[in-house]
Amino acid sequence: MLRNALNVGCLIVNTILRNTVSRSAENYRWAKQKGFCVRCFKERAMVGQVRCASCSEKDAAEYAILKVTPGYKKRKAESDRRVREKRRNAGLCVRCGQRPAQEGRVVCLECKIANARIQKKRNNEIPRHERPNYGLCYVCGELVKPGFRLCEKHYAQLTTMRASFSASPTEKMLEDRARKRRATMLAFQEGRCEY
Ligand SMILES: [Zn+2]
Ligand SMILES: [Zn+2]
Ligand SMILES: [Zn+2]
Repeated sequence: MLRNALNVGCLIVNTILRNTVSRSAENYRWAKQKGFCVRCFKERAMVGQVRCASCSEKDAAEYAILKVTPGYKKRKAESDRRVREKRRNAGLCVRCGQRPAQEGRVVCLECKIANARIQKKRNNEIPRHERPNYGLCYVCGELVKPGFRLCEKHYAQLTTMRASFSASPTEKMLEDRARKRRATMLAFQEGRCEY
């Protein structure tokens, strides 16, 4: 039973590999440009996608099998690394491989924005108060300044804010201070003073 399942799995993986090779980059580009499905080259691709509905389903099913194939993850990581290296050497964005990378960076502007959006979504999954436990700024969720609970930017902001407050305390801060002082005095008079 298990052996059968494995054989079927192997067969499918081999078919996928064959398909992948025959689906050359040139055909892919042609289909994408003309708005055809990049898998069957017959149907129109779905809006905003490169595959037709039925091919997209087939691809998803195949990928589900491929994903659990032993050694797949390692091979994928290895090939991803090679692709990124090739793109970087060509001065292209390592993410999309289409547009030139931004000056001094490895991704293009569009991909930088897309990455930031994904990062933001991920951050939103962690409650604010737990962010510092993950080494993330509790204000914005970016990486913290080492040893602090805030990122570089928000740490700087807080420092300037504090400096300006102590230089020119707000009305409310003065009131608070006066209230505290009164409370301490009262406690002292009633013999509750802790000092
Ligand atoms: Zn198709
Ligand atoms: Zn890009
Ligand atoms: Zn921050």
